[in-house]
Order: sequence, then C-alpha cells, then structure tokens
Amino acid sequence: MADPKGFLTTPRRLPPRRPVDERVRDWDEVSAPGGLLPIIGAQADRCMDCGIPFCHEGCPLGNLIPEWNDLVSRDDWLRASERLHATNNFPEFTGRLCPAPCESACVLAINQPAVTIKNVEVAIADRAWEGGHVTPKPPDRLSGRTVAVIGSGPAGLAAAQQLTRAGHTVAVYERDDRAGGLLRYGIPEFKMEKRHLDRRLEQMRAEGTKFRTGVDVGTDMDAAELRTRYDAVVIAVGARAWRELPVPGRELAGIHQAMEYLPMANRVLEGDYARPPITAEGKHVVIVGGGDTGADCLGTVLRQGAASVTQLDIHPRPGDERTEGEPWPTYPKIYRMSAAHEEARELAASPEADVDARVFSAATVRFEGTAPDAERPHGGVRALRLIGARADGESGPGTERVLRADLVLLALGFRGPERNGGLLDQLGLELDERGTLARDASFATGADGVFVAGDAGRGQSLIVWAIAEGRSAAAAVDRYLAGSTTLPAPVGPTDLPMTA
Ligand SMILES: Cc1cc2nc3c(=O)[nH]c(=O)nc-3n(C[C@H](O)[C@H](O)[C@H](O)COP(=O)(O)OP(=O)(O)OC[C@H]3O[C@@H](n4cnc5c(N)ncnc54)[C@H](O)[C@@H]3O)c2cc1C
Ligand code: SF4
Repeated sequence: MADPKGFLTTPRRLPPRRPVDERVRDWDEVSAPGGLLPIIGAQADRCMDCGIPFCHEGCPLGNLIPEWNDLVSRDDWLRASERLHATNNFPEFTGRLCPAPCESACVLAINQPAVTIKNVEVAIADRAWEGGHVTPKPPDRLSGRTVAVIGSGPAGLAAAQQLTRAGHTVAVYERDDRAGGLLRYGIPEFKMEKRHLDRRLEQMRAEGTKFRTGVDVGTDMDAAELRTRYDAVVIAVGARAWRELPVPGRELAGIHQAMEYLPMANRVLEGDYARPPITAEGKHVVIVGGGDTGADCLGTVLRQGAASVTQLDIHPRPGDERTEGEPWPTYPKIYRMSAAHEEARELAASPEADVDARVFSAATVRFEGTAPDAERPHGGVRALRLIGARADGESGPGTERVLRADLVLLALGFRGPERNGGLLDQLGLELDERGTLARDASFATGADGVFVAGDAGRGQSLIVWAIAEGRSAAAAVDRYLAGSTTLPAPVGPTDLPMTA
C-alpha cells in the first residue's frame, strides 16, 4: 500500500449517483459518469494489506483483493487488471452487480466502514477496457476436443471462456435470441448497461467460442444427440422455475411474474418493441416480494411512469446493524437500500408521486377483480388485500389493508431449473432433494461427460457464484477430457456463502 496509514486518515467514500429526478427519466446506469476515478486511488489505499485477508474468503472467486488494491493505490492499473482477471472472467459484471460479500468480510469492517472493494474492482475493469487492455486470449493450440455449453448466463459464459482458452472447441447453445442469460433479460439496464455484456461476447467470439442462439436444447434439438456430437456437455440453464402465489384471484388478468415483466423492458432497449406488452405506465402497481428481483421491478416501474407503486415484503424490516447471531465476517441480513429504493424514497417525498415502496411484514391474502369481459374472461385485478403484522409481530384483525392495483408483479424467488422441455429426460438427469440438478463433487452428473454449473445446480444465487462455478466446472471438464488440468477451481459444488 502506498500509504500504510490510509485506513486511519481516509474515510470510506462512495462515488456519486446521478440525481433521482434525472435518472428515473432514462435507463442509463445510475452512477454519475467520471465520479469514481478521482476518489478510487485513496479508497484502495484504505486496504490494510492484512496478513490473513478475510475478503478472499468472502469472495467465492478468491479475488486477489489486497494485491489489486495495492496496485491501484500505486497507480499501476495495468498490473491491477492482470491480477483481477487472473481470478475473475467478468469483473465489469461483478463490479456493478455483486452485493460484495468481500466487503462484509473485510477486516477493516470489524470496527470501521469496509474498503470499497467492489468499486475498486469496477474501476480497474472499466479502465482496462477503455485503455484497450482487454484483448482476446485465444489458445496457442487446439486440443481437438469439443464441448457444448447449454445456457449463456454468467456460469455458461465463464465455463465456455475457460474451456476455449484451454484449447477446446466450445459452442454455447442458448434458447433466447441473444446471449447473456439473466445479465441480458433479467437485470435492468440501469444496473448494468448491456454494452458491457456485448463487448465481452465479442471478446469471446474473437477467442473462438461459438454461439448458437435461438436453440432450446431438449425441445428444438435432442439433448442426447447433442451429447453424441460433443466430447463433453456443460449444463448451465439457470434456475428459472418461479415460485407461485396460490391465493384466491391469482387467475385475474394483470398479475404477472417478475420474469415475465422484466425481460420485456430490456427488450425495448434492444429495439424489439416500441412499447412493452406489459407496462407499468399510468398503472397502480404492487410488487409482491422484497428481494433484489422486486427491487429491479421497482426501478423499472418507476421509469415506466406508474401512477403509484408499493413493494410488499413478507419479512419484518431487518435491523440496521449486525446482530450477535451474524458476527463478522459473515454476510449479514441487514436493511439495505438499493438504488431503486433510494429513488422510491425520494419520489415518495414529492407531492405528485404516490409511492409507498417497502411495506414489511405484509402477507397477500387475496386479489380482487373487475367483472369478466371478452378481453379478460376471468376479469382484471383491481386490488390486493393483505394482512400486515402489528407492532407485536402478530397478524390478525385490524391489520388488514386493501391496496389499489391494476398491475401486480410477483417476485417470490425461484425453485430450481425449469422442467418444461425434454432436456433432463433426454440426458437421464436427476434432481436432488432441493429440486436442483444432482451432481457429484466434480460437477459431474450421472450421465457420462455431462456436467452442471451455476444456478441449475446451486439454486438461484449470485453472479459471482455463477462465474466461480463456471470456472470450477471448466476445470472438471478439462480434467475429464485431458486427464489433468491447470485450470483453477475456486469453489466446490457444495461450498456455501459465509452466512451465519
Ligand atoms: C431479476 C434478477 C436480478 C438479479 N440481479 C442480480 C444482481 O444484481 N447481482 C447478482 O449477483 N445476482 C443477481 N441475480 C442472480 C443472478 O442473475 C443469477 O444467479 C445468475 O445469472 C445465474 O447464472 P446462470 O448462468 O447459472 O443462469 P442464468 O443467468 O439464468 O442463465 C441460464 C441461461 O440458460 C438458458 N437456457 C435455459 N434452458 C435452456 C435450454 N434448454 N436450451 C438452451 N438454453 C437454455 C436461459 O435462456 C439462460 O440464458 C438476479 C436474478 C434475477 C432473476
Ligand atoms: S466479485 Fe464480489 S465478492 Fe468478489 S471481490 Fe468483487 S465484489 Fe467482492
């Protein structure tokens, strides 16, 4: 570190975000352009270069955090990028989207605000791209072995890049019309502009990875036949089977799953629609679900110009500080304010807006609808009835509330991989007791040469875990094909985040 006393003299600082009234009128990322670089050197210098850096443990990729903090504090951006890319294929994704379990595990966070690790990461990645230092790294020689990767989310992309660079000929099969998985059609533009994804895909194409989009393996193509055409197969199909809300009135028109709604908003920006088929524009919206997917719906609803919006969370409001039950260095369940929540809070203060984002301890009991008509044979939703916990934590009489709603978005989480196509049957794959794809300690399924990476095996998780799994599964495939491997394997299939 350039200044060994940096952590004593420099307070933690975050880069500015654009003003709320400006950013809710567009879809660009919320950060203010040019706000990060002027502060990030001093922020990196807050790293104490601990003998035992727990941030390594917090990050599933084992990112070499103190090393690149030191290099940034010394203005050596080129080597910082080299050390960052040594463990992370896509740091510009995680630097924008990761909830940064590394920061919860930072030793400084025991009694001070943590080092802004994620911001250092994104600064290194963006500067490397802008300086033209992220170039294709094709293999020196080809192995003559072939691999099909099914699914182009972060797990599939990481596996494909590792295996391509190891010399194998890799084709990624994706059922959507564009590659990227949830990075493309789940995560809104204001969290990560798709240009970051597109240039990574360009890099991968230049390295030799082939992309076959618009192919639903198991439906458009027989998965068993695919297996015979390739020496190995990696299944990285995600965990998109959504949870339902089986309450009276669920059949009413105007109630949609978050993953029916969010991709349409992203498709408008891709140029597929002028106006999304499902939109919040002018509507009274209720989002059921208090997690990150709900927050992504909230930010999207605000940008589409809803008449009102409320987000319901069945859980009580978490506390602002760690509790004794969730000690450092675990990732605690504390009250967190996403950029979308910040927007909703600020808009709620404005007299024109009708925003009641974040109602905690709220359970939906039924939907109420309009009379059926030719267009909506079951009627359309017009209200949501909920019970909310009283101050003593109990639900009951007096806690009922009715919210006006003509659009309801369900963001209740996911159960595991979808089972609608023939993929699982055609390969003879099994589900484990959690409903995710069963695999052994080396990511291998019961079918010879078939491996599983990412949410499909782990359940809905995080991008950083998907990349880590993709890297580890690639190492397992390389060993299967070549007998040994030098590829890194940062996580095992049963490794868990550091939570209490
Ligand atoms: C709305 C939303 C927002 C999120 N935001 C964040 C965030 O900010 N930060 C974070 O860390 N995590 C976030 N997550 C979680 C994160 O996106 C996932 O954990 C991660 O994308 C999982 O990667 P994956 O590659 O395993 O699967 P996915 O990204 O789901 O990709 C799977 C791919 O497989 C394709 N596929 C499925 N079946 C087939 C088939 N039969 N044939 C061909 N292709 C197929 C799918 O179309 C998809 O493209 C979010 C999740 C959601 C739903
Ligand atoms: S990938 Fe996530 S956990 Fe790892 S260093 Fe970056 S922000 Fe931290």
